[in-house]
Amino acid sequence: TSNPSNNRRAEADTMTTMQTSPVQIDIENLSLSFGNTEVLKGVNLAIRPGEFFAFLGPSGSGKSTLLRAIAGFGPTPKGQIKLDGQDIVGSVPWQRNVGMVFQSYALWPHMTVAKNVAFGLEERKVPASEIGPKVRAALELVGMGDYAERFPSQLSGGQQQRVALARTIVVEPRVLLLDEPLSNLDANLRVQMRQDLLKLQRRLGITTIFVTHDQEEANTICDRIAVMADGVVQQIGRPDEVYDNPANSFVAKFLGTAN
Ligand code: ADP
Ligand code: MG
Repeated sequence: TSNPSNNRRAEADTMTTMQTSPVQIDIENLSLSFGNTEVLKGVNLAIRPGEFFAFLGPSGSGKSTLLRAIAGFGPTPKGQIKLDGQDIVGSVPWQRNVGMVFQSYALWPHMTVAKNVAFGLEERKVPASEIGPKVRAALELVGMGDYAERFPSQLSGGQQQRVALARTIVVEPRVLLLDEPLSNLDANLRVQMRQDLLKLQRRLGITTIFVTHDQEEANTICDRIAVMADGVVQQIGRPDEVYDNPANSFVAKFLGTAN
């Protein structure tokens, strides 16, 4: 019973059972401009509770802008972003409790892995006695339980990205937003991380949006995808549906389907 790896697994379990029920995201007629340039042009999307959803599209199509708008970064959009029916447009990021992981992991170099993960808990004034167990649980969930006392420079890129993921999930966000989180990793690692990400998402049951320009990545891990181009959603569906039945010539061309 005092086996440390069993204890750690038990802690990881407490974290997953603390989750509140997953949220539905409804994006309605969302538009956003930088100055005079309209970058999102009336986006409509309904993402189901617990779904692993992808924004897939070429560079410049507005994927990151849309993700950042959900997190509360960037110019205030027109239209609505609802979490379980409640519009969050206009609220500040920390009120939304939405977690985001970026392409570049940006860990604090002078802090250990554990300190990096604890940071958000300390900011939120989580009682000190709860911080250690929560940090260990989050690190265990991303497979980094043995690295708590390392510094970021002592980790590989993939390990750093796992820590970045732990740092985001440790505060138990309502929604998980991932902006090309695997793009900086080499090809083999990227493929392995896909499966780990999917397992983690299923275990947490958290509504997740994954941004990528890589259709294979979206197709292998996501329940449904929204293909984006030029600030507009071109098509929404399961990867196989979209692939077998592209809605227009842009989608067909982008996915390289025969149709
Ligand atoms: P993606 O993530 O799909 O590559 P982005 O959302 O980053 O696309 O960008 C969509 C469009 O918005 C691009 O034309 C980009 O140049 C523009 N854009 C993004 N951020 C800014 C900004 N801060 N200021 C001005 N234009 C921006
Ligand atoms: Mg982007």
